[in-house]
Amino acid sequence: MVNLLDLAPADAELALREFAVAHGHAAYRGSQVVPHLWTKPVGSFAEMTDLPAAFRELLAEHFLMPRLAFVTEQLSTDGTRKFLFRMHDGQAIETVAIPDGERMTFCISSQAGCALQCSFCATGAMGFARNLAVHEIAGQVRELALLDPPLRATNIVFMGMGEPLMNWKAVSEVLTILNDPKGFGIGARHITVSTVGILPGIVALGERKEQFRLALSIHAPSDELRQKLMPVNTKYPLSDVIDAAAGFDRRVTFEYVMLGGVNDQPQHADQLAAIARRCKAFVNLIPLHPGGSMGFTPTTPEAIAKFARKIRNSGVEVAIRKSRGIDIAAACGQLRVERQRRRPPAGAEHDREVDVA
Ligand code: SAH
Repeated sequence: MVNLLDLAPADAELALREFAVAHGHAAYRGSQVVPHLWTKPVGSFAEMTDLPAAFRELLAEHFLMPRLAFVTEQLSTDGTRKFLFRMHDGQAIETVAIPDGERMTFCISSQAGCALQCSFCATGAMGFARNLAVHEIAGQVRELALLDPPLRATNIVFMGMGEPLMNWKAVSEVLTILNDPKGFGIGARHITVSTVGILPGIVALGERKEQFRLALSIHAPSDELRQKLMPVNTKYPLSDVIDAAAGFDRRVTFEYVMLGGVNDQPQHADQLAAIARRCKAFVNLIPLHPGGSMGFTPTTPEAIAKFARKIRNSGVEVAIRKSRGIDIAAACGQLRVERQRRRPPAGAEHDREVDVA
């Protein structure tokens, strides 16, 4: 049986039109299914009520359109909603929906667990289980669109669990589904792939003709320090990642998690600014989400603002990311870890937002 949600819309349409004709229906009946996959999704073939009942039954016998099992949802005082989905094999993944004015950003997962073991990241601590299939990644966006009332994404960030560029084949197909007008129709500039710096993946992303955005998890301005925080630095050292960023034909964002007393000193700001200037990168300073962050402490908001000013004064564009959903442990991997520990979420008193410096 063909899983329609593993296919780019154009490929699904081709298969469906051929199928319709082969079974004595007009080809356009096949095309009529396509909007129900992503654009105006429905939960089952039976709900495609603009199609003849006989054709719907035929579809259900030959095609799959699997759902993700909804496990739990948490709602933050700031409106951020975090969802936990379970896959057919029992693996759990997280998806976060972050409203901000007119924008609705979905933070989606690309792997169950993660192999990279960044020292401050809750997903890294749980280890790697497996890559997600196309329908499991794009399905996160689809499931939220199936809610009543539906949640529709205007922006997507691959900043949930996993390393998207270590699952490139599936992620590349998902990018097509997200961007295609017959998929979710989200503009490429509103879709950001975040990576620790997997070089072949960066090249592959750069080769896509669409203007998808690249965010690089830098987190330390020297190889020596980065090595301590991110074991992947052995394979893809900072210097190579910086070269890749400088060679990327579009603007890149540097992500930099502020770790108290570790990477937040004045000399780090100077070093980071120098690298960012070289790559013409935009710097995003990320307050550490404390839940599951394994012994690190957040830099104070005042110290982050000072760090940001230092970078800005050397001519680099910088913003401080608003921490969203702190009360629901919305950072990478935290909900799943929390469920496993059966611990209530951290208190809402931690909830704070830091504006751009
Ligand atoms: N593997 C990719 C995408 C997933 S993580 C990457 O590393 O870029 C998305 C971002 O969240 C990364 O920048 C990651 O370093 C950051 N992150 C992980 N744990 C965090 C925490 N506890 N607080 C704040 N940011 C965190």
